[in-house]
Amino acid sequence: MFPGTHVYIVNKALGKRGVLFDLGTFIPDIASGTSRTFKVTHSKADEFRAYLEKKAPTFVDLADGIKTHIVVDELGDEHYRGGKGYAFQYVDKDLIDLVVKGCGIKRPEARKVAHNFPEFGIEYLVNSQHQGVLTQIKKALTSSQLQEVCEHYTAFYGGNSNVLYLELEVFSNILTENNLTTVKGLANLWKLINFARYKVIPDGDIVRQLILTSKSRVMSTYNDFLQSAIDEVKKTLK
Ligand SMILES: [Zn+2]
Repeated sequence: MFPGTHVYIVNKALGKRGVLFDLGTFIPDIASGTSRTFKVTHSKADEFRAYLEKKAPTFVDLADGIKTHIVVDELGDEHYRGGKGYAFQYVDKDLIDLVVKGCGIKRPEARKVAHNFPEFGIEYLVNSQHQGVLTQIKKALTSSQLQEVCEHYTAFYGGNSNVLYLELEVFSNILTENNLTTVKGLANLWKLINFARYKVIPDGDIVRQLILTSKSRVMSTYNDFLQSAIDEVKKTLK
């Protein structure tokens, strides 16, 4: 899921827990890529918490935030109500065809890439109805503790803390320059992700179509998904 969705779910499950927690709820996706794989950034939250308890106890909220991210992604990507992950339940041939055509992704990988669009559908619905989540994310990204967060994070998960700082700064700028409560703003975000990951500039019209189509598909069930994620987060972090 995307950052607004993660922050919304955690707000509902646990109340607002502050900037360190908020950073944890979306840092795994931003930290994935150049320096660390998705598998690395989406694991070991408990070990990271234990590490912080020893080295920097005032930062443990960061690890708890990461833990909620992993719990929510598990429902979105892997298993939801006895089936595959929620986002994958909305991926079909039509969506994959559009991803191949519009994003320049080859077919074997396009199915996985396509699951981002049901996630964008939810992100659009959440961000446009709860504008406060984006302000909350922006606040976390401009926190005076950001440098230290990057140092602790990279000391445990690997990579260079200055590079991670820059990656977070880039994301903060994207947030300032694009209105992520709109389809246009979210499509721009996808264009940047698509280019960073696959070195292809996607077709803007098709990306907007992918987001709008996906939004219609998730419309009648996304609230159930959000509630399941809220319940799961509550269970995991009391
Ligand atoms: Zn993730």
